[in-house]
Amino acid sequence: MVILTASPCAEKTGNVTIHTSVPQITAKNEQSDLVKKTFTISMIPEEQYPSTSWIRVYTDGSAKNATTEGGAGIYIEYPNGEKQSEAIPTGLHCSNYKAEEEAITHAVCSIRDKANKTISVVFLTDALSVLQAINNGKLPELEQDLHNIESLQTALQWIPSHCGIKGNENADLLAKEGAKQQQYENQVGFSEMKTIITSLHRTPQQQDSYHQLARPEQTTIFRLRTGQNRLNQHLHRVMKVIPSPMCPCGEAEQNTEHLLQHCRIHQALRNNTWPTPTTLQEKLYGPVEALQKTTRFVEETGTQV
Ligand SMILES: [Zn+2]
Repeated sequence: MVILTASPCAEKTGNVTIHTSVPQITAKNEQSDLVKKTFTISMIPEEQYPSTSWIRVYTDGSAKNATTEGGAGIYIEYPNGEKQSEAIPTGLHCSNYKAEEEAITHAVCSIRDKANKTISVVFLTDALSVLQAINNGKLPELEQDLHNIESLQTALQWIPSHCGIKGNENADLLAKEGAKQQQYENQVGFSEMKTIITSLHRTPQQQDSYHQLARPEQTTIFRLRTGQNRLNQHLHRVMKVIPSPMCPCGEAEQNTEHLLQHCRIHQALRNNTWPTPTTLQEKLYGPVEALQKTTRFVEETGTQV
């Protein structure tokens, strides 16, 4: 016999309740009856949050290798039977955590106009760390947004991933779809990107040098020039995905100038590449051979930009 017990980990602030566990299943025989367990878990949305009185919002986030090309997936079931799907790219530099958080943030926006005082809203997510962060007051903006939802009650319910809950599977697929959409370099629109590149070039001859590069070399030079790159300073200060902006050498923040001009880790390679002192301007905006030297240097340092 399978018994559902009340969730032991529920915290309530205002009209928002956060459940960081699912009702436990106590079976007469053993907890390990996987089929029964999976089946029971799959019943949670319908039993705890019946579709007639709850807007059920499934969210999921994903990122390639947990660091790049993030995507947020949102799948919503309304009591009137209406369904809503959203797949959103969350950036070239994106952690799983960030993607999950963005998914909930976007979802709050999506349902805000459709919720009202006569209906309840539940967000169902497998992002335990995000729910814990809200519980611990670490995401004050999102917490405020949740409190601002006009609803009878608002709940956040953790659910395990890959347990047969259809809405969760839909959100998972949508997150992957979002991650595949054009990221970051294309979020900068084409005309804006053209403006940036053109303004960075100083003479027509130099403009040509950039266009003579192979596509991967262009990408490297573009990232070094704009500072929109995977060096620690940008990842920390702008993307907020790593805890420190410092270079592994420990002497300065890691950015384009530090990497190309100063980092002592790469001093030998630098002397080899540029036997005589060379300005940053020359390395980033010089003729095609100068730019190729720069991309080769970066490649040989093993640094991902
Ligand atoms: Zn360094």
